[in-house]
Amino acid sequence: MTASANSNNGKVKTAVFKFTCCAGCQFALLYFFDQLPETLELLDFVYFKMARRKELDEPYDLALIEGGVSTPEHIEQLKAIRKQAKTLVAFGACAAHGGVPSIKDWQRELAVEERVYPDPLLINSIKVSPVDEFVKVDHYLRGCPIDEVEFMELIRSIASDKSPYIREHPVCVECKLRNNICILLMREGVQESMCLGPVTRAGCRAICTSNMRACFGCRGPMSNPNIPEMVRTFKAKGFSAKDIEMRFTEYAGMSTEFSEGARAYYGRKAPYYHRKAA
Ligand code: SF4
Ligand code: SF4
Ligand code: SF4
Repeated sequence: MTASANSNNGKVKTAVFKFTCCAGCQFALLYFFDQLPETLELLDFVYFKMARRKELDEPYDLALIEGGVSTPEHIEQLKAIRKQAKTLVAFGACAAHGGVPSIKDWQRELAVEERVYPDPLLINSIKVSPVDEFVKVDHYLRGCPIDEVEFMELIRSIASDKSPYIREHPVCVECKLRNNICILLMREGVQESMCLGPVTRAGCRAICTSNMRACFGCRGPMSNPNIPEMVRTFKAKGFSAKDIEMRFTEYAGMSTEFSEGARAYYGRKAPYYHRKAA
């Protein structure tokens, strides 16, 4: 069941929740009030801590979940939100794939904590996971941060009880539609040309490669990506094992597909998940 346009005088009652992340996708949402006023008019925000002081004291139909899950408390909060929300959206790369915070999952937990905290024994952190590891996700808004066109498409679809357009194809399609020169083919062994566009889901209009920067895969894997071929190409172009692991784990390393790419060189069975979720 999805949230409908009739939830509240034609507006969808919406709550925004933040878990482990930089809050950049909520910042993007604040900008959308200027950029997409007609779309934001479709929503009635009953809880949006970054925009209003109001506490959560009324029901909601649509939950926008920003950030990954990194504590046992997060899991319980998330399950409670799922019970309440008719529609739950993974809002940004951190919620969809673990995002930048999940880089720590590829290192030893204690080594990461000792680098940041004077007393790691006080920290109760588990591996950083995407929200769909614990609850059903109805829709994904990918990217770091989310994209305004996709946001507009999704909110209009939810408000009119229609299915949103899902892009199954890679960033390369959008890149070539913009007549870009392929930086992956252009240069050998240069970090800026280590482009994940062939295996990354489209929807950003190839913003990085259009500015001569490699795609870092912030939107996560496309449908059925050929990961072994991507790894083989990177190896053939002279990139090191460490380079390849880092590229696959910067934004969506907790996705099955990109973790396969990251492990390909080292042959690890799994990232370092030292503390299990409750
Ligand atoms: S996806 Fe990127 S911008 Fe959004 S909360 Fe995560 S780190 Fe921040
Ligand atoms: S630059 Fe990257 S996204 Fe563009 S065509 Fe080449 S590999 Fe694909
Ligand atoms: S080109 Fe790649 S890294 Fe850049 S915004 Fe698009 S998906 Fe993200």
